[in-house]
Amino acid sequence: MHSPTLIITAAIFAALITGVLYAVLCFNRDIPGLRLWVWSFFAASLTAINLLLSDLLPEVLSVIFAQGSIAAATTVCWLGSRSYMGLKPLPRRWLSAIGRGVVLLLGLSIYYTTVSLIPGARFVLASGYSGVFFLLTARTVAKGDIRLVPARYLFASIVGIHGLFLFIRPVLFKLSQPSVIDGADSAFMDLISQFVVLEANVAVVATAFGVLVLANEHITTALRRLAEIDPLTQVFNRRAFLLLLDKAISSSQRTHALLPVLLIDLDHFKTINDTWGHRAGDDVLRHFVQLANRCLRKDDVMGRLGGEEFAIFLPNADGPGAAAVAEHVRALVEAQSLKGAVADCAEIRLTVSIGVVLYAAGESGDTVLHRADEAMYLAKQHGRNRVEWLAGGDVACASHNKAAAGIESCI
Ligand code: GH3
Ligand code: MG
Ligand code: MG
Repeated sequence: MHSPTLIITAAIFAALITGVLYAVLCFNRDIPGLRLWVWSFFAASLTAINLLLSDLLPEVLSVIFAQGSIAAATTVCWLGSRSYMGLKPLPRRWLSAIGRGVVLLLGLSIYYTTVSLIPGARFVLASGYSGVFFLLTARTVAKGDIRLVPARYLFASIVGIHGLFLFIRPVLFKLSQPSVIDGADSAFMDLISQFVVLEANVAVVATAFGVLVLANEHITTALRRLAEIDPLTQVFNRRAFLLLLDKAISSSQRTHALLPVLLIDLDHFKTINDTWGHRAGDDVLRHFVQLANRCLRKDDVMGRLGGEEFAIFLPNADGPGAAAVAEHVRALVEAQSLKGAVADCAEIRLTVSIGVVLYAAGESGDTVLHRADEAMYLAKQHGRNRVEWLAGGDVACASHNKAAAGIESCI
């Protein structure tokens, strides 16, 4: 196989991939970074086309074109990864520093083409520049729990390995020089150059595959979010909460750990809506969630069951711990009124009634929530703005009842 064939293949691959990614972008304009990645592959296509046409162009022009498109492709690839990860756009001074770096790269490349003819100097410069930016891209994307975002690590591995190879490339080039290998025949040089172009081809295809996997990860996450998250308050919706509660119940059955469940209903919420309007009511719901979140730990799970009714389960709490959390939520909501939600209203005061139960062995998620609901209605009956606890079901085991007694003593 000859290098020109490989270069033509690279040009076709890069152009096709740019087209495919552009089509994906047309249907998914909100995937962060994708637009920049399309530009990056477009620049990579120009590099390959330039390699094909290099004999037809004046040398200096061809060098500027090649080095410029390589620098653009790799820098924009990194900017795309920053955008995908939700990082802020680079400050102006960083962008201008990169711009100066590219000008220096072009200047040195022209110098080594016209003034000092050092073989391979341009190659070293381009490899070094793009190697740095591919490694930066890998570092930017490889974040988060690998079990939740495996696509990020796949993409990071692809660009990271290619970035490392770019630093080895100049050494390979050096090895293939006649001065290093005595009487090196052109076949060895051809082999090295073919290998380098082949690696570039594989890297282009693999990186595009990585981008598509990332795009898929983003779409899947967005769809899952739509299916699981309540758009108004950003906590789990009823369906997702019940699924998570069922999972927590299975785990509690396996480990015999306690599982407290809180059911919270906002008091006289209809009056808030009627007095201040539905939008102020929505603000109050968000305000409540913010306050409740301040009382929760990382593993605690909150969901909106509907209207102004929320539930929380606390996988790592015992009875007294759950009672303390419930009381903390109640007191915080009472203390922190919502200010500025409505123009002519100084503050909206809010209270909540909370029912607390401990999961009793043999119960389903629905049953335990039903009991928590009964406890919450007890709180309403006893005058609202309070926490009530309800003992376990018929099948409650001793440890559950003991912990429940702990709750009683706390409330
Ligand atoms: P109680 O203290 O007994 O719980 O009284 P309440 O007024 O809170 O309860 P009720 O069930 O009478 O009223 C609940 C209100 O919640 C009625 C409904 O219009 C309102 N609501 C339900 N969902 C939303 C929502 O998403 N936004 C707003 N603003 N109001 C909502
Ligand atoms: Mg209510
Ligand atoms: Mg209600």
